[in-house]
Amino acid sequence: MTESIAERLSVADARKADAIGKTVLLKGWVRTRRDSKVGFSFIELNDGSSFGNIQVLASKSLNNYDSVVKNLNTGCSIRVVGLVKESPGAGQATEVEATEIELYGAAPSSYPLQKKRHSLEFLRTIAHLRSRTNTFGAVERIRNRVSFSIHQYFQERGFFYVHTPLITASDCEGAGQMFRVSTIDPSNPPRNEQGEIDYSQDFFGKPTYLTVSGQLEGETFACGLGKIYTFGPTFRAENSNTTRHLAEFWMIEPEAAFYELEDNMELAEGLLKRIFSDVLEFCPEEMAFFNKQFDTTLTETLQHIIQSDFVRLTYTEAVDILKTSGNSFEYKVEWGIDLQSEHERYLTEEHFKKPVILYNYPRSIKPFYMRVNEDGKTVRAMDVLVPKIGEIIGGSERETDLETLQIRMDEQGLEKANYSWYEDLRRYGTVPHSGFGLGFERVIQFVTGIANIRDVIPFPRTPGSCEF
Ligand code: ATP
Ligand code: MN
Repeated sequence: MTESIAERLSVADARKADAIGKTVLLKGWVRTRRDSKVGFSFIELNDGSSFGNIQVLASKSLNNYDSVVKNLNTGCSIRVVGLVKESPGAGQATEVEATEIELYGAAPSSYPLQKKRHSLEFLRTIAHLRSRTNTFGAVERIRNRVSFSIHQYFQERGFFYVHTPLITASDCEGAGQMFRVSTIDPSNPPRNEQGEIDYSQDFFGKPTYLTVSGQLEGETFACGLGKIYTFGPTFRAENSNTTRHLAEFWMIEPEAAFYELEDNMELAEGLLKRIFSDVLEFCPEEMAFFNKQFDTTLTETLQHIIQSDFVRLTYTEAVDILKTSGNSFEYKVEWGIDLQSEHERYLTEEHFKKPVILYNYPRSIKPFYMRVNEDGKTVRAMDVLVPKIGEIIGGSERETDLETLQIRMDEQGLEKANYSWYEDLRRYGTVPHSGFGLGFERVIQFVTGIANIRDVIPFPRTPGSCEF
């Protein structure tokens, strides 16, 4: 009955001082209940809208105090009507004095999320419930904020959000890393005269895969709309069980016409700084929590990065630093090698102690679409490296010259017939253009200090594991 005059608020809003004096309706889950000796129970209520809970005071005078309130366990869902008051307690502006409490759903003591610290490994086994924990609620609100900031950053700069396909026939990163998309019956596949599986009879009439990057299609839009970005799921069947690789992850890929490598670096550095300053500004409770529980240097590191310039270093300079470092690496450093994670981390964590943009990599270790420099030996690639993670962004200025592009495709044994549409961008009004890919989960790892990438995505897909 009081519901009609009560204002429906989220816990986040009821925690603000300007809610004081209002009669409100709150709905959420009980985090804890504790009973005082003087005829009161204190309920910590959370509805996911904010990191902090609101304290609900439930007095013995409630008509269902003995039958309902005294049985409220961690995990029960309830509805509360009450008056918001100034809280005498430290660390909270308000509390709610309940005039009505109603139970939606009970949670027996077998509820797996009891009031204690659970390991991240255990929480991974109950990924369908972990969004109710402090850690994962905070991770999800950070993911939401960072997504929003990324869209804002690009929209403010005139980039259009475009949607590139998830099913693709081009295998730019090599078929070994791709998931095949097929409707062929594996127990009875059609075969050609050589006895091979005949994919011309498959759903699309040819072999198809889940995309490893929207870049090539993104380039077609950049060469029409000027500046674009994608933000979508990406799939890689790389059989590497690391703390930085997922089989399904989200990637942000801007691509801009008339951008050269320098412009690309500016764009990447600006994007990361924007993300870091936005999480500090808009998610202060979450960031304080991560700083306390996961990495006590976190906010300091982010603030430092926001205020300083990223190091810009050529691959060749990096190799010199690594060779003279006196450090013994597992993989020996020579000009021409693909830098390993240990090398990248040495540069960004130990040598410079800040983000590093490495550029001008050897032609032989980078994909065909990267622009060849005048020296003929290096390409205009750039990787952004950050402490603890290593590579967070990979990008390049793209090859604009048709002939060079074709030579590079031959070098890498690619079937040119599959790329005639991509070649057309160089045939008709070719322009310098550049872009990069930012791994969304890697950036979430970086801002939360969470070590394992499986714990920054709701439902991780990794080799041998596809639960929920
Ligand atoms: P790495 O060497 O770390 O495997 P990569 O060189 O394969 O990365 P790119 O192909 O350049 O990466 O992809 C662009 C970005 O996407 C990377 O900088 C990284 O942030 C992210 N990324 C790449 N592979 C994965 C993965 N398997 N899981 C999560 N993020 C990834
Ligand atoms: Mn990779």
